[in-house]
Amino acid sequence: MSHPMFKHPESLMMSHGYKPELSEGAIKCPIFQTSTFVFRSAEEGKAFFEVAYGIREQKKNEEIGLIYSRLNNPDLEILENRLCLWDGAEDCAVFESGMSAISTVLLEFLKPGDLLVYSMPVYGGTDHFINHFLPKIGIHTLGFMPDTSEEMLKSMIIESGKSANLAMIYIETPANPTNDLIDIEMCAKVAEAFSTADKKVWVGVDNTYMGPVWQHPLKHGADIVMYSATKYIGGHSDVIAGAVLGSKEVIKRVKTLRTFLGNMAGPWTGWLLMRSLETLKIRMEKQCSNAQIVAAYLADHPGVEKVYYAGLLDPESRAYSIYQKQLLAPGAMLSFDIKGGEKEAFLFLNALKLIKLAVSLGSTESLAEHPASMTHAGIEPSHRAEIGIRDCMVRLSVGVEHPDDIIADIRQALEVVSKSANAKALSTENI
Ligand SMILES: *Cc1c(COP(=O)(O)O)cnc(C)c1O
Repeated sequence: MSHPMFKHPESLMMSHGYKPELSEGAIKCPIFQTSTFVFRSAEEGKAFFEVAYGIREQKKNEEIGLIYSRLNNPDLEILENRLCLWDGAEDCAVFESGMSAISTVLLEFLKPGDLLVYSMPVYGGTDHFINHFLPKIGIHTLGFMPDTSEEMLKSMIIESGKSANLAMIYIETPANPTNDLIDIEMCAKVAEAFSTADKKVWVGVDNTYMGPVWQHPLKHGADIVMYSATKYIGGHSDVIAGAVLGSKEVIKRVKTLRTFLGNMAGPWTGWLLMRSLETLKIRMEKQCSNAQIVAAYLADHPGVEKVYYAGLLDPESRAYSIYQKQLLAPGAMLSFDIKGGEKEAFLFLNALKLIKLAVSLGSTESLAEHPASMTHAGIEPSHRAEIGIRDCMVRLSVGVEHPDDIIADIRQALEVVSKSANAKALSTENI
């Protein structure tokens, strides 16, 4: 168990919330691969249900009893306790995917007639849920761009004619794949301005792109934090999972809906994520230091037009002031525009030897993809242009390999692109 003397989350990831004496002294939490739990007596079973179903308040020092793995399971509960430490959250609920975490939050905190305001761009699956599913149940949605100021956002909400029904501001920052930053504190102020005594406007943040080590939205006024734990938290491209964090009150609502949707993570997923959490910080630190080296290399390369990375922001820009306030590091995700278009981007991607051509992010291995035709292919081309996703853009998730090898791979792939351009120039000269 944790001790008040040790405050750094990375020191507690191996032990927090787990009592070896309850598991035959096993140093690691075993996989509790069980659907149901035996009650010691009927009275105990009754007491567990009373607390789980909110029939009565939990007594002081009364532990929530184990009932059935759709409600709770030790692998999930211990994982949830550990995840709380990074974000400074009171409670957490884990899910079998990032999308189930996000959709459960939106379903719990929105009802027909409500208005949801969201930042653009958001993850493709989230965008689909917001724009294709929520309207079917009578929820109004309104997107805003990253450069929107507090005043502009307030006017947009008022002009929508639905400001009295505003229920949530949902943001994703840094935005995928452009690394645009959205000011969480500003969104919290706007939410407060539209809250009334009997209706709180919630602020939810998808913190997947920056991860739990370097951005803590609750500290900037957010109420709900969501993760695709498939990304940095899992970190090895071998599990799909999600998490939601917030106050006890928020998570109680989320867990209640989770119980009835049945989209909680299973014990095996919980166990895998606990194993991943032990190395979360050192993985992310290595990934970030590699990403800084890669970003600097790309920024200087004649074959590259532009690099999108939080570590390369203009100190005079608004984004930089958000970066200073909100982020503890520039992260391991970056995008760049290669000189040319889709053809050159594809030549580059096909030439990579060490970096894998795949979507997803935050893993130990470096990954590269083409947002316009892959992760963001579902967005209308005109809207895609508006949000700055060009055909020449390549997105990189930088892994833990040796930086010299990552650079060597990028260098040789960019050479393939420039040789092809030179060959083309020569052949047209000969005509
Ligand atoms: C991957 C991702 C999701 C969806 O998570 P899954 O685990 O794939 O369901 C949501 N938001 C962001 C920012 C993501 O990168």
